[in-house]
This record gives sequence, C-alpha cells and structure tokens, in this order.
Amino acid sequence: MTSPDFLIVGAGIFGLSTAYELSKQSYKVAVLNPGTIPHPHAASTDISKVIRFDYGSDIEYMEMALRSMELWHDWNDLFKEPIYHENGYMLLSKNEISLEGTSYESICYKNIVDRSFEHEFLNEEDLKSSFPAFEKSIYRNAVYNPMGGFAESGKSLKLIADKLRSLGVEIIENQEVDKILYESNKAIGVSTTSSDSFHADHIIICAGNSSPYLLPELQPFIKVTGHPIFHIKASRPHLFNFHEFPTFAADIARTGWYGFPFHPKEKVVKLALHSDGLELNPLTDERKVYASDLQQLEEFIQESLPCLKNDPVVFTKRCCYTDTLDGHFWIDRHPEIENLSIGTGGSGHGFKMGPVVGEMIASIALGEKHAWSDRYAWRNLGEDTVQEEEARYKRGD
Ligand SMILES: Cc1cc2nc3c(=O)[nH]c(=O)nc-3n(C[C@H](O)[C@H](O)[C@H](O)COP(=O)(O)OP(=O)(O)OC[C@H]3O[C@@H](n4cnc5c(N)ncnc54)[C@H](O)[C@@H]3O)c2cc1C
Repeated sequence: MTSPDFLIVGAGIFGLSTAYELSKQSYKVAVLNPGTIPHPHAASTDISKVIRFDYGSDIEYMEMALRSMELWHDWNDLFKEPIYHENGYMLLSKNEISLEGTSYESICYKNIVDRSFEHEFLNEEDLKSSFPAFEKSIYRNAVYNPMGGFAESGKSLKLIADKLRSLGVEIIENQEVDKILYESNKAIGVSTTSSDSFHADHIIICAGNSSPYLLPELQPFIKVTGHPIFHIKASRPHLFNFHEFPTFAADIARTGWYGFPFHPKEKVVKLALHSDGLELNPLTDERKVYASDLQQLEEFIQESLPCLKNDPVVFTKRCCYTDTLDGHFWIDRHPEIENLSIGTGGSGHGFKMGPVVGEMIASIALGEKHAWSDRYAWRNLGEDTVQEEEARYKRGD
C-alpha cells in the first residue's frame, strides 16, 4: 500500500473514532489490529457499556459525556440498526439523595435539576412499584433520567470498522505491532509480529492496555487493572425489560456495582464492578474471574437483586482498564518524538466518550487545539497521584 497520512495502532473505540474523524477530513488513514475486530481482549468489546453523563462534581466530564451522547445519536444514524440504546440511567443510593447532599449521587442529582433535565426522583415505595427487581429495603432513593443507557460495544466496533472501510480507511486485521520504528527522533512506522512493516507520515498509538508496552515511557503513569463482568440468564426477564428497566448504578461509589437491562439480542442481564480491580500484566494474565469474584456477585445479588439468585451465570470475563494514575485520559503528541501521538488511558470509563475522544486525538495529531484536551496532555504522575473519577469504588474508602 502507499503510505497513509496517519497509521493508527489499535482498533478499539479510541482508534476507530479517531480514524473516523481523520477520514471525514479527507486524510488517508490505515488502522492495524491483531486478530479480528472486535478483538476479544479489547476493553471496548463485550455486549454493552454504560453511557451516562453523571460525573458528580466533574462538570467538564459531564459536558464531554453530553457531547458524546449527541455523537452516539449521530452514529446511530450512520448504521442500519442503532448501537446506542437510550433506555435511561438510574443512580440508586442506600443513603438519602438530596439537593444539599455531598454524595456522588446527590451532586449528580443537583446537576440534573440545575440543568432542568427530565428526571424522576424515587423513594423506596416508588422503587418497589416501578422496578420490582430491586430488593425494596436496600435503596433509600434513586434518580432516574431518560438520557443515557448503553451501547452495544463490541458490535459497535464492527459496525464502525465496516463504515470506515466504506469511507476508504484501510483496516488491516491480524497485524500485531511489536515495535515503533524511529529515525533519529522521528516515528516513521511500525513493525509487526508477522515481520511486516507499515509506514506513515504520522503514527497514532491507541493500543489500549498494550500502549504502555509499545511506549515504555508511559509505564510510570499507567497501570493495567482487571475487572470482572458477569452475564446472567435471567429466569424472569420481564423484570429487566429493556423498554422499562434502565441501565443502573447501585450505590456505585461505595460498592462498585452497576448493571444493564435484559439485553435485547444477547438475552442476558449483565452486572459488573467499577472498582480498583486487580493490577495485572495484560500480555501474560489469563484474565480469569475467580471464586472470590463470584462470591461478591452472589452477595450483591442476594442483597440487591434477589430475583436473580437462582439464575445461572453463563459468561464471565476479567476485562482490563488502561488506568492512568489520576483516572484521566492520556491524549497528546509524544513530548520528544515527532510524528507520534497517543490516545489512551480510558481508565474504565472511556467507552461512552469514544466519539469525543476521537475528535480530541484527531485534533492533537493534526497539531490543533481541542477545547477539552489540555487536561489529558502528557503529565507527570507519581505515588501521590489520586484517582479522581467519582463513580469508582476504591476499597478502603
Ligand atoms: C470490564 C470493563 C467495563 C467497562 N465498562 C465501561 C462502561 O460501562 N462505560 C464506559 O464508558 N467505559 C467502560 N469501560 C472502559 C472502556 O471500555 C475503555 O475506556 C475503552 O473501551 C478504551 O478504548 P481503547 O480503544 O483505548 O482500548 P481497547 O478497546 O482496548 O482497544 C485497543 C485496541 O488495540 C489493539 N491492540 C493492542 N495491542 C496492539 C498491538 N500491539 N498492535 C496493534 N493493535 C493492538 C487491541 O486489540 C484493541 O483492539 C469498561 C472497561 C472494562 C475493561
């Protein structure tokens, strides 16, 4: 092939959305990915990811998520079938949610009210009548809003890749990059484990949790952590009916638990944990779910969703976050190497932001500014750095 303007390493949501932005601006783009798309080890795979704008006191993330939701709607229009399902999002709390409160849920509630977004405030009785799947005595309040829901994540990668091909982007599967090729302080291409090499005017690394291995200078700022997900074959699917039952967070900042309605195609209920997870090496780890994870699931179901307690768990997986130490994305040009950009650091909440992150990575690679990108520039993080995403449960908090 003739060299493209941009060669993107990694066809997860960050790489593909960047390719989409660049191809819209008529640049010649190629994307490399090991295996086929979606790759089973990509963080962006699986049947669903939460789309929410609730980021507590982090108003900039809220703005970014709202913009991303608009772009998800635009992407829905690009495909024959929707991949973003706006079935609403519900924050449940074991404690009182109030406009004066300081909890994550209370601050999210205040943001919703301040912006006059449509919502419903629920107490225990309302929860019992509207969402009988939840154990009634556990959650004191909930806030439901009809914006937000979930995207069919793995499927969206496939549809976006197909769309990109139709726009002339070269999507090259079964190519795993092993090295970035440099000439003095300039990146000129990459080599792959099949002994091929690919060249381009500009290289963009969007390799998710492999990014710190391709660029070891990122390793002090990024760790990879594994998080369990569970698919459950619900025996009473009507209690989780996708048209009535929202995507939800179950006291998430203090438990980590969140979940989805009965998946319209996969016919399962998915539950997962947004917590600090287990630090691991993604190149060697088996990404297994352990008996202790299943035990935690059992306890959560027993306490919160007892209608699932006898239902079989039909699929489990440990999926990897590319965690920056502060929980923010990592989007910048390399500080010392010309023609090399990086877009990574999803930190367990990046999927929903995919369309906006693609805009940011494309702008940065083009040498332009983006309204939100300063915060994600190459930065020094260390032992004292605190992970700042407010929805995430940290053991010991
Ligand atoms: C369990 C779990 C649950 C999550 N839930 C949510 C959620 O509900 N909502 C949300 O917004 N976010 C969620 N996230 C976070 C979100 O999935 C990620 O932030 C986002 O998908 C990151 O996208 P990415 O493109 O950076 O990485 P990835 O999706 O991992 O993509 C990287 C791509 O690079 C490829 N690659 C790797 N190495 C190489 C190489 N050497 N050469 C070429 N290509 C390579 C991989 O195969 C992969 O296709 C979750 C993450 C996990 C793990």
